[in-house]
Amino acid sequence: MDDQQERWRPGRPGPEPETMVVIPSSEWETTQREAKLGRILMELDRCPHGRHQDDPCYGCPEGISAGNPHMRTNEVIGYNRSGGTYVMPGRNEKHDPVSWKQ
Ligand SMILES: [Zn+2]
Repeated sequence: MDDQQERWRPGRPGPEPETMVVIPSSEWETTQREAKLGRILMELDRCPHGRHQDDPCYGCPEGISAGNPHMRTNEVIGYNRSGGTYVMPGRNEKHDPVSWKQ
């Protein structure tokens, strides 16, 4: 993807570059909403003091964030439609969607 394509967004003023890939606005909004959901998932390992698991935290015992007390690492947090389980991945695996499945 060239530089011109990366910077274009629906609603951007000015003519469309000839090489532009047009993303329908509804698709773009869905993509943005899904990206926001992804960012929320990345927050779920934070302790009540707002620190990611294992980061320094003055509010947690030992001075290290104990993580989310409601979703412990490797704990089942839900189920998919075929009965498979979703688990809370470890800090270093949480960016990989596969790590959320067990
Ligand atoms: Zn804490």
